[in-house]
Amino acid sequence: MPLKVKFVGAVGAVTGSCHLLHYERSNSYYMIDCGLYQAVRGHKDMNKARGEADLGGVSPARIKAIFLTHAHMDHCGLIPRMYKLGFKGPVICTKLTADFVRESLQDTVANVDSFDRDLYDLDDVKAVRFQCPDEKEDFQLGYGYKVMDEADLFYGFSRTGHLAGAVAITFEVNISEGKRETICFGGDLGPQIMQPESSGTLLRPVQYPRESVDYLVLESTYGGQGTRPQLGYDERIEALGFALERALTPERGENPKVIIPAFTLGRTQDLVADLAYLITRTDFAQRIGGVAPAVVVDSSLARKYSNAFRNEFNNWWFKRKDNEHKMRLLNREHAIFDGVIDVEAMLDQLFGGKGGRTVDCHAADGVGFELFYGRMDIHKGPVIYISSSGMCSSGPVMERLRENLKRKDATVIFVGYMPSFLDAAVLKSAAASWKSRTEVAAAFVDGPWFKDNKRLEDFDLSTNEVASVLLDYSGIYSGHADEAGLCDYALKIDNLRYKDRYKPLRIFLVHGEDKPRGKLRRELQRYADTAAPGTCRRLEGIILPDARSGWYDLAQAKWETPPSGEPSWSESLKLMAEASDLQESITEAWFRYKALAGEPVRQAEYLRRIDVLLDNLEQWRLRFRRLTQKALDSESSPAEEQADESYDRQEVYLDVSASASLSAAAAVLGLSGRITRAQSRLAWTTLCREAHPDTKPHATPAEKAELTARMQEINAAQEEILAEFKRLSS
Ligand SMILES: [Zn+2]
Repeated sequence: MPLKVKFVGAVGAVTGSCHLLHYERSNSYYMIDCGLYQAVRGHKDMNKARGEADLGGVSPARIKAIFLTHAHMDHCGLIPRMYKLGFKGPVICTKLTADFVRESLQDTVANVDSFDRDLYDLDDVKAVRFQCPDEKEDFQLGYGYKVMDEADLFYGFSRTGHLAGAVAITFEVNISEGKRETICFGGDLGPQIMQPESSGTLLRPVQYPRESVDYLVLESTYGGQGTRPQLGYDERIEALGFALERALTPERGENPKVIIPAFTLGRTQDLVADLAYLITRTDFAQRIGGVAPAVVVDSSLARKYSNAFRNEFNNWWFKRKDNEHKMRLLNREHAIFDGVIDVEAMLDQLFGGKGGRTVDCHAADGVGFELFYGRMDIHKGPVIYISSSGMCSSGPVMERLRENLKRKDATVIFVGYMPSFLDAAVLKSAAASWKSRTEVAAAFVDGPWFKDNKRLEDFDLSTNEVASVLLDYSGIYSGHADEAGLCDYALKIDNLRYKDRYKPLRIFLVHGEDKPRGKLRRELQRYADTAAPGTCRRLEGIILPDARSGWYDLAQAKWETPPSGEPSWSESLKLMAEASDLQESITEAWFRYKALAGEPVRQAEYLRRIDVLLDNLEQWRLRFRRLTQKALDSESSPAEEQADESYDRQEVYLDVSASASLSAAAAVLGLSGRITRAQSRLAWTTLCREAHPDTKPHATPAEKAELTARMQEINAAQEEILAEFKRLSS
């Protein structure tokens, strides 16, 4: 009937969010989010493929508007591409989101070396036209506004507490007299769901979906993630102070340094506020010998975002309106504002302008400190660098880490998510967790500990050279709701007064690997089954769209065309792209290996990489077979089902010195000690090239017999070693 939805991106994956709405009365299409695929195999080709084919045949020119939940690249990064492909409508989002998106898209195109400029260029970014309903005087969050040119289609924004400017978007359509159909796109949800009165965040808390919502589109990235402890603001400041006190005490030297890799948007501003609170409101400076640390925010993008916070606060602070609590996105109740008289001066100190300033507003129990926005090296006294990118994949933080990881007086505090394939993830995995004070304190005594010595090319050192203290505080600073938070958001009856008005709910789970998605599905069901009467919405169903799903008819509550057994175009494309990525990585690692002749330790690292990649390619083969079998509509075997789990398999080491016969077999291949499968495979191939009789056509019969015997020996040795690997991995 009137409204249909299709899930285009981020189905069974965690990036590339993109959904389509088809409003049949006027035959109009709308898009909700248009995110970049990131950090998944094949992402380059998947991004390029975003167009009519993967939009289910809807040409970008046919789409009337793009509604945007928030400014993260995995939700907005392909918007300029839509313009490049003929989209002419506006991007509808909050003013803050528009400011952030404009900055980050321009920054990406201009400054990120790895960005693929074939996707779009600066002109396409400039073509993006924003429409921000919250610029209007009478705008209210949670209220339904008419979608332009449509007689009876409405949309509304509500806060998600995930990022400044982030909103969930609800669409409502009149089906018949008194009957409405409503769908809410949640976007990413913030951690404040569990503690709606929090004073420790710069964002105002989440607004729950309205009671009239029939469908909720929920992101399942964090399904299966256990409940995180919730800290009050004092506890968080205390935990941060505990680490910083140990990091910056004079006992660690005259010029101790702290590096905090942080996302430029949101996390950086939270950290600035927290550090300001710690230094100006507590006796922190006394505890580290009386000298307040300088704080440097060294990304220009972070500075621009801070300035945007400054402006937004200004709006809500100094232009008060009657219904302002319904409009505000930022949190005026943050503890940093308690008792402050000159708020404007404080906001200027924290988030305004650029360059250096002294932050001393309301330094009641503490002292003032120097805060710098811009590239700046402080050589004297304690210093804290807040540096981007938060994932340590590019930007000024790379230089900071290269300079400081070998220093004993440096401390690195991780506060954000980090994909496992990055070198920095190796550092984070060795970091002491904030959850245990003992562990944190011990880290300052013992230094970091790594299971294996690994070469980290990104930082130009090996893990055994890392001397700085590594701490993991990401649990405190998560921008995401945990599983319990997601369940609450979806199902909790938030407004008890209207508990009889809540409509039964159907939930689409998107944006998440199959595993967390399955876990979240079970947890939602459990929540609904066990909740006390009157506290939980009726759960009508949980729907897991996949890449083959067509359009879902909201009024009829069913898929328009049943998903066929045929693999979809985008599914095949994704797999093909993954294979080409894998092969590219293997080739690259092989060239690096060859280039490092004479450096066996670093060579071994590349062999290890190749080994893992070859295993991944093996799993890819199984996946592809599954896909073709799907096309043939035949069952796949359980062994192949397992291959679906994940590509990120760890390497397996075999210690050949453990047995005399193994050690002898390895010696035939010229190997000893701990070896990987790839090492043995490569050694074997090399020997075959040398010893195989076919390579010596002019050999005498006696020589050939000798070569044959040698080949038999080599093959037997390789077989024995492979058998042992097989035993190890099973
Ligand atoms: Zn996000």
